[in-house]
Amino acid sequence: MKILGMDLSGKEENPTGLCIFDEHNLDFLTEFTDDDILDLINKLRPSLIVIDAPLSLPKGRCCLEKNCKCAIGGHFRQAERDIRKFGSVLPLTFYGMKMLTLRGIKLANELKKNYKVLESHPHTTQKILEFKDPVSCLKEFFSISPNATEHELDAGILALTGWLYEKNCCIKLGDLDEGIILIPNSVKCLEIIKEVIDKHKIIKIRLNLKK
Ligand SMILES: [Zn+2]
Repeated sequence: MKILGMDLSGKEENPTGLCIFDEHNLDFLTEFTDDDILDLINKLRPSLIVIDAPLSLPKGRCCLEKNCKCAIGGHFRQAERDIRKFGSVLPLTFYGMKMLTLRGIKLANELKKNYKVLESHPHTTQKILEFKDPVSCLKEFFSISPNATEHELDAGILALTGWLYEKNCCIKLGDLDEGIILIPNSVKCLEIIKEVIDKHKIIKIRLNLKK
């Protein structure tokens, strides 16, 4: 299992944080353009990609323009309405969100040809797991490079969320046809992480003893 987390930026000029989790280590990277992101992913070949960006439009919408007939479809998907109980989220029609949504949809459509791609929201994951910030959450289980950027750390939380999904410890907010946001079931998911991480530590200690 190899999970890639991606904290996508709205524009190619801004850094996109990435994190690859192989069940032992978190490796952080930063890329800028869609081409570089796609190249990196094709080298890494993850089994699951989890992205922090809206990867679909609200039902009935063909775009996010105010003046289009589809504007009657509104500013939010059901997934945004569901996630609001954990904290406020911006409407997809806001300038910055619109850029991010359109980039997210384009990149995800390309990636979905070869990979499993899901959407998540790192700040909600961190809240459900009861940590005040991404660093304290990741440091609980892994040794983290002090140079990791905030976007890379968010990508780390996304990779961890994807891993929890593979361990059946996530729920999908929103509507399956419209687009879902993956979040952990509850704070109890931490037990699963602890179990696996401790098992790896024991395996590593045994390997050392054999030498
Ligand atoms: Zn439209």
